[in-house]
Amino acid sequence: MDLRVRALESLLVEKGYVDPHALDILIETYEHKVGPHNGARVVAKAWRDPAYRQWLLDDATAAIASLGYTGRQGEHMVALENTPTVHNMVVCTLCSCYPWPVLGLPPVWYKSAPYRSRTVIDPRGVLKEFGYELPAEVEFRVWDSTAEVRYLVLPMQPPGTEAFSEEALAELVTRDSMIGTGLPNTPKPKQETP
Ligand code: FE
Repeated sequence: MDLRVRALESLLVEKGYVDPHALDILIETYEHKVGPHNGARVVAKAWRDPAYRQWLLDDATAAIASLGYTGRQGEHMVALENTPTVHNMVVCTLCSCYPWPVLGLPPVWYKSAPYRSRTVIDPRGVLKEFGYELPAEVEFRVWDSTAEVRYLVLPMQPPGTEAFSEEALAELVTRDSMIGTGLPNTPKPKQETP
């Protein structure tokens, strides 16, 4: 794959279709600047700040843009709130639509046919394969991303983190918890000193 990409790149550069500097900027952007740490900051802020949370639920595109996360595949964002009775999961059944500005590029499994087809049939079973089980009374809602709308799951804040700073909370937010295929990490209990 690496060789094929290099061959393709050198051909495109040679024929003058792409500027290698532009490619470097794109790669640098998606390797270091854009990724799930952006979404984690959005979630942590929503956990800490009720007014921001409401804004995020009312107009996710604007609330997310206020933190500087804008750009391709994030033009129309919708935030989905997980509650004790509702769990949201995001899929793109047609291809791999994904909210790049907040989550970066999609993981391989997100693009796979089994994930795309099975999530809509059996979201509870898929979540279980990711290692998470929710009580039977929790309702699952599956959202199909489109070329227009991209979703960000707002997971529930882990118990016992009420006094955490925004930075500490952001570290608990996993990529998968913002897709709905996981839950945020719970903080490690403090070690008792003997
Ligand atoms: Fe898609």
